[in-house]
Amino acid sequence: MCKKPTEWEKAVEFHGHQCPGLAIGFKAAVTAREKMGVRFSADEEIVCVTENDACGVDAIQVLTGCSMGKGNLIYRGTGKMAFSFFNRKNGDSLRLMLKSFQGEMSREERQVYILNAPAVEIFNFMKPGFELPETARLFTSIVCEACGESAPEHKIRLQDGKKVCLDCFKDYGRGW
Ligand SMILES: [Zn+2]
Ligand SMILES: [Zn+2]
Repeated sequence: MCKKPTEWEKAVEFHGHQCPGLAIGFKAAVTAREKMGVRFSADEEIVCVTENDACGVDAIQVLTGCSMGKGNLIYRGTGKMAFSFFNRKNGDSLRLMLKSFQGEMSREERQVYILNAPAVEIFNFMKPGFELPETARLFTSIVCEACGESAPEHKIRLQDGKKVCLDCFKDYGRGW
């Protein structure tokens, strides 16, 4: 008999391994679903803003169906272990910020702890301090005067009087 994979098993399969980071994203998605009373698969108006690009985002994608391609997974790179969920339909929003861990735990112990502990032990809950960007903006395309590649207007910088893309912009460096 083949049994249906659990949501956790689906997340692990998509991510390629199991780890405490994946467990954080998994817990965040499960908790947001409960607290906001939404079924992600049926609710495309749910938008997730992730503040990190770590393992947990993969679990978010599997559980919520939010993806960059659909425009309902937005990366806001503060580097914090925080995930915010917005319900475009009713204006509801919730930000989950990972609490710092106390005590010594192995990776395996930590993963089990995250998956099984009450959500209030894992996250602080609050309203997001930022708004969602507008949907479906159309951008004017500009051709970079250094490399000739086109990029949207808001990604173009002025350098020595020339319009250049971020690849050609000298101060750009890491940051992206
Ligand atoms: Zn991982
Ligand atoms: Zn360029």
